[in-house]
Amino acid sequence: MFDKEFITENQQVFLEELKNTDVELWMKREDKIHQYVSGNKFRKLKYNILEAKRLQKKTIVTFGGAYSNHIVATAVAGNLSNIKTIGIIRGQELADNLNKVLKENKTLHVAYTNRMQFEFITREAYRNKNDASFIDNLKEKYGDFYLVPEGGTNSLAVKGCEEILSTEDQKIDYICTAVGTGGTIAGLINAANKNQKIIGFPALKGDFLKNEIVKFTKSNCWSLNTDYHFGGYGKFNKELINFINRFKLETEIPLDPIYTGKMLYGIVDMITKNKFEKGSKILVIHTGGLQGIDGFNKKLQKKNIDLIKV
Ligand SMILES: *Cc1c(COP(=O)(O)O)cnc(C)c1O
Repeated sequence: MFDKEFITENQQVFLEELKNTDVELWMKREDKIHQYVSGNKFRKLKYNILEAKRLQKKTIVTFGGAYSNHIVATAVAGNLSNIKTIGIIRGQELADNLNKVLKENKTLHVAYTNRMQFEFITREAYRNKNDASFIDNLKEKYGDFYLVPEGGTNSLAVKGCEEILSTEDQKIDYICTAVGTGGTIAGLINAANKNQKIIGFPALKGDFLKNEIVKFTKSNCWSLNTDYHFGGYGKFNKELINFINRFKLETEIPLDPIYTGKMLYGIVDMITKNKFEKGSKILVIHTGGLQGIDGFNKKLQKKNIDLIKV
């Protein structure tokens, strides 16, 4: 799947409250690349999988939570590329009842049916997953492997994300993306021209992101807007869920509640408050993540909140 170039279409977004504004909003539909290796996860894995192949590695090891877009993308991409994948998953308790977990958790189920081997570890062990001793242990257990970090961000991932933009995007004034580990925005920053402004919308609280992004980039035409994380990673309120459902109804574009939903909420809010220059063209990167809606809806169901419609 990585021997093909993907240039995804830009779709103009027509939303009721944008009717009387003087900006154009466009969405790059990276979510359409693949159901599971979708959006930025395709971009981030591409050169890592090619590198693993070049080094003749038979196994990829990576990390993630039980609903991780990165875990499922790595499993499916590995399966399609004939590389064995091992997922180190946060939450040792999941191992106690794996059959039940696989029945209820679509993310892990898809990873499992794509032959990913799981190792479930405690949250404490997970925090130390980058220690040399932890990696050495994995090497003893699994032999030689190619390591892809949590969230998939490294310099090869950034290189892949530089391919999100194409020549037709030159006319765009603002490029917006959701931010997790910062790899995607780093690629966009490197690929943008010097008149374009890149705005990242972190899906989590914290200040560490700036340094991560600086590590992979040279330009300073970018900023982070930290006003729209809704309290932190995976946190939400009814207003966000209602927005995602209304957005889908009006535009036919589905958004995920962890990343793209929060970003779009933020962008629409900023447009109605005239935060963008008059006449601007704004391009939003749809980074995918739609596979996570199923697991999220189970959480909403327990709290008796309206579900995200798919
Ligand atoms: C992983 C992910 C992100 C975050 O990308 P980073 O490169 O880690 O910043 C954004 N959106 C979606 C849908 C994702 O799955």
